[in-house]
Amino acid sequence: MKKYRVSLNEKIDLDEWDADDTSGFKGNKEKAEKYIASLTEELDCLQDKFYADSRFKLLIVLQGMDTSGKDGVIRHVFEGVDPLGVRVASFKVPTKEEFSHDYLWRIHKQVPGNGEIVIFNRSHYEDVLVVRVHNLVPQEKWSLRYEQINQFEKMLYEEGTTIIKFLLHISKDEQRQRLLDRRNDPTKQWKFNVDDLKERELWQEYKKAYEIMLEKTSTEWAPWYIVPANHKWYRNLVIGEVIIDTLQSLGLEYPKPVEDIKSIEII
Ligand code: ADP
Repeated sequence: MKKYRVSLNEKIDLDEWDADDTSGFKGNKEKAEKYIASLTEELDCLQDKFYADSRFKLLIVLQGMDTSGKDGVIRHVFEGVDPLGVRVASFKVPTKEEFSHDYLWRIHKQVPGNGEIVIFNRSHYEDVLVVRVHNLVPQEKWSLRYEQINQFEKMLYEEGTTIIKFLLHISKDEQRQRLLDRRNDPTKQWKFNVDDLKERELWQEYKKAYEIMLEKTSTEWAPWYIVPANHKWYRNLVIGEVIIDTLQSLGLEYPKPVEDIKSIEII
């Protein structure tokens, strides 16, 4: 999965990253589904240990163009996981109160505590994406945010938070297909938003904003992964595997009992 990780200061042209990639599985969805089922089980076990261990905090950031599958990842990758230790925080257009504070205020309130996994469905990166594309604040302000975000994430890392960031990378054609599905399928029409079509017209501007974000904010302490996301099953597989690798690298342990409990009699 390392090939999807963005290196420090790497120049990014998203056209060179294949959104259709299914790598080793060569489109063998059936084989992949068995593998995904084993990942789901593994993730469940690791999360149980992570929660019990309670020494670490995990923050997972999901970003991507409209229809890229952020909701789908949350539904599928975490389907077997105990909801007790996992929380989703979604970031929409800031409320009046949020807008009257600095842009990281609402973000900081949602970061994970010990033993907790928090998934950001959109994030502080909107403040260098939609905000940059639409110039919602002056350039003098948003241009400082890359470094501010790096420092903010560094502080979280130094305080014990592991951070993984995923860009769900879909092609413009795939987005068209998904928007058509949303328009035509009565079970998906509630998600159809005409404003998404206006954002689609700004595809190139968003692409540029994403590339700059990836170049400037993939750090040792909070790396970005560019996930091929045209095939939903492969997207889930990549994300599942990166999270599992990350959890395995923490050296999780179930806490030991404070005394020899085996000798305690239970009547
Ligand atoms: P979804 O995440 O499912 O697409 P919505 O359709 O409600 O949910 O979209 C959320 C919207 O909020 C997006 O258009 C996103 O760009 C916008 N948004 C999120 N954060 C900010 C921000 N900091 N400033 C302006 N708009 C934002």
